[in-house]
Amino acid sequence: MKRTTGTDRSITSRWRPATQAVRAGTWRSEQGETSEAMFLTSGYSYENAETAEARFRGEDAGMTYSRLQNPTVAMLEERIALMDGAEACRVQASGMAAMTAALLCQLSAGDHVVAGRAAFGSCRWLVDQLCPRFGISATTIDARDNAQWEAAIKPNTKVFFFETPANPTMDMVDLQFVCDLAKRHGIVTVVDNAFCTASLQRPIEFGADVVAYSATKLMDGQGRVLAGAVTGSADFINNVLLPFQRNTGPNLSPFNAWVVLKGLETLDLRVRRQSENALEVGRFLEGRVPRISHPGLPSHPQHNLAMRQMDGCGPIFSFEVEDRKQAFALLNALKLIDISNNIGDSRSLLCHNASTTHYSVSAEARAEMGVSEGMLRINVGLEDPRDVIDDLDQALVKAGL
Ligand SMILES: *Cc1c(COP(=O)(O)O)cnc(C)c1O
Repeated sequence: MKRTTGTDRSITSRWRPATQAVRAGTWRSEQGETSEAMFLTSGYSYENAETAEARFRGEDAGMTYSRLQNPTVAMLEERIALMDGAEACRVQASGMAAMTAALLCQLSAGDHVVAGRAAFGSCRWLVDQLCPRFGISATTIDARDNAQWEAAIKPNTKVFFFETPANPTMDMVDLQFVCDLAKRHGIVTVVDNAFCTASLQRPIEFGADVVAYSATKLMDGQGRVLAGAVTGSADFINNVLLPFQRNTGPNLSPFNAWVVLKGLETLDLRVRRQSENALEVGRFLEGRVPRISHPGLPSHPQHNLAMRQMDGCGPIFSFEVEDRKQAFALLNALKLIDISNNIGDSRSLLCHNASTTHYSVSAEARAEMGVSEGMLRINVGLEDPRDVIDDLDQALVKAGL
């Protein structure tokens, strides 16, 4: 294997994210292939016993076993780290494997977590159900309110965990404020950046310690594989996350890593076009539906904050119709847009959160986080936005709007 300029940090760290997304981290075999090679191997062989010994001692840089190292996976990790402006990255088998690893690798019984209450259903499950089973207490707050972050801190608070924008309410967290507050109290911030990726928002630039991803969403971006990633300082990744990951094994397969590498090549292009399309669709829906929560529209109460910390509105937003019955009528009348709970895909997808993504969250918690019975979340894809609007228009009429 030859290391190309893609592995020389003195060069790649100066590239802009769109360049890094295409080239950073690339290694090449003796064939000089342009596209990254897929190394579907679980093990590695050694020329002699001394080499095997040296590798296990860490004195030889070669690989030993794919739960510990794999070339295709390593290329993806280097690329995501650079795009995030992070020192290091490790990838996992899914976004939830990434979130679980990012939290459990650093939390112990007796620790306390403060989390945004508006969150992806499974992220809420980690905080509400899993952490308490291991003696880790949690407080969930309205993460839009800076004062609530401050008020929730206890002497044993170890981690702040939140997403911005939050799924599906599109609540924003003030990254600069919350990261500064955490630093003053020695608290580790873990930011779920799935809705943005480095193309739209780089939490590390605001002082975040750890950024976690569902790479299933925008990074793959074409609805093919599940994947996750965690980025942060070399110290955190190598000394805190890695011992957990190497021994518990939530690894990403090299095949899926390769698919995400291909996805990243077009990430910037897709995210920018999908953000433009989402803005057009949002402008159409505003005034036509009772409520819309779209970070790109001035009607969003945190529009200014969103535009300060995000480089575009992203493809996802939510809106509300009267009730579940009307939401279902709208979904069932769609002809182009798919009824699907996935997001970040190049296809336009619409879902009713209360009955799907947030089904496992109690009705009370849903009401508290603002997931109403009439709420629908849309992922605007790469289709011509006029066709997406036409489809919504006819479906809204059929649903009585
Ligand atoms: C989808 C999603 C996850 C979980 O990711 P998977 O790849 O489905 O495991 C976590 N957080 C957010 C914000 C998500 O949208």
